[in-house]
Amino acid sequence: MSESAKNFDVIIVGARVAGSATAILLARDGRRVLLVDKDAFPSDRLSTHIVLGGGTKVLERMGVLEMLERVGGVRFVRSRTVGPNFDYSADLMREGADNRGLCLGRLLMDAAMIDAARSFEGVTFRERFRVTDLLIEDNAVVGIRGEDASGVHEFRATLTVGADGMRSLVAQIASERIDAFKRVDVPCARAYYYAYFEGVSRKNLGDDLIAEFESAPGEANLVCRCENGLTVAATAFDASEMQSFRTDLASNLRSYLNRSFAIGKMLEGATIAGKVFSSGILNNTWRDPVTDGAILIGDAGLHVDPLFGQGHSMALMSAWIVGELAREWFSGGRGPAIPVDMLNDFTRRRDAELMPYYKASVRVSRELPLDRGSHLAHRAASREQWAADEMVRFAQMLTPTAASLSFRFARLMAAASRGA
Ligand SMILES: Cc1cc2nc3c(=O)[nH]c(=O)nc-3n(C[C@H](O)[C@H](O)[C@H](O)COP(=O)(O)OP(=O)(O)OC[C@H]3O[C@@H](n4cnc5c(N)ncnc54)[C@H](O)[C@@H]3O)c2cc1C
Repeated sequence: MSESAKNFDVIIVGARVAGSATAILLARDGRRVLLVDKDAFPSDRLSTHIVLGGGTKVLERMGVLEMLERVGGVRFVRSRTVGPNFDYSADLMREGADNRGLCLGRLLMDAAMIDAARSFEGVTFRERFRVTDLLIEDNAVVGIRGEDASGVHEFRATLTVGADGMRSLVAQIASERIDAFKRVDVPCARAYYYAYFEGVSRKNLGDDLIAEFESAPGEANLVCRCENGLTVAATAFDASEMQSFRTDLASNLRSYLNRSFAIGKMLEGATIAGKVFSSGILNNTWRDPVTDGAILIGDAGLHVDPLFGQGHSMALMSAWIVGELAREWFSGGRGPAIPVDMLNDFTRRRDAELMPYYKASVRVSRELPLDRGSHLAHRAASREQWAADEMVRFAQMLTPTAASLSFRFARLMAAASRGA
């Protein structure tokens, strides 16, 4: 390999939702991108596949949403939330706005996104390439070292992107060698299990995303149609019950879903297709995402409890921010690494846009039963359709930067509190 072939503008470690999206966004601005992953594709990843409305907006702006529908993605048109004394929903497509989400298995989604990235001349993709170390000079990241079947290789770039998931090796190495990427962890209180069902009747379940809370203390359930006529259903519950749940995964998944408010009935007559999946116990992790020459996106920088189905959307939204800011980072002359002073803009924007969702995840991860404020908000949303719309906009990550619920909504919550 020639010397110039070993130098890129950007190296992206991890080629799934965060990495492939970043590769597309940077390559379409003319950057030369090396995208690597230790996995071979297509390959699966633990996930219940929900891309919320905020995430599909990014996919649409990237020009890949239609392609993801063509490979089998189901667009959910309605979001319903059910719990004790609350049941509300909102249409995601009305009055000319298309805020529909997407549900598509990772086997198909990740491969299609990588294909879209590879279609850019500026993208070099290497699968089965495991990054083992970072190249660090003067306390700045200037590239990677890694290996594949052909041996050990080094590549250099002015920006290295760690899109390598919640156990990010990029973050770990930079933390050990240059004290970068400080982190805060909050353990998730729940375990999360899911499976695919076949034979779910359309009479029982349309193209809706349904989330349930508190069918038992701390429990939550989710259901949505995905590709090939399958339906994905998940349950989350007190992590201390994991041991007993594991004794018979399929029958316990069914019995947890059966005691839910609505989802069990929707799955009546359907059968579990394949195995029951679980991630074990996870953390919410916030990392300072920038250092000289490197940036973390997706789960590597901000990892949340799967409960609200926000991970893909957060990864896509952070990739979008990188795409916008990178024009400035790459304008004009520069040294071997983009300085952290420039990259700090990413931290500011990511935290302004995504911290409200991270904080909501941390709240439900600290305490099992829904707190009083959440109960009141759900009840308020059940009272008035405009309030349901507002709650669903927040849950679908469609609110403007850093906005949470409105003053009008808070007044309705106060009224619900007095009436409770
Ligand atoms: C059980 C479960 C259910 C979930 N359900 C949902 C859901 O419904 N909706 C939602 O939005 N989110 C969900 N999530 C979260 C979602 O899966 C993640 O947020 C998302 O996968 C993050 O994407 P990413 O690209 O940042 O990282 P990942 O998908 O983790 O990809 C990281 C990539 O980096 C590669 N990599 C790692 N180390 C190296 C290395 N050293 N060298 C080369 N490559 C490397 C890996 O092979 C991998 O392909 C769920 C998570 C779990 C665990």
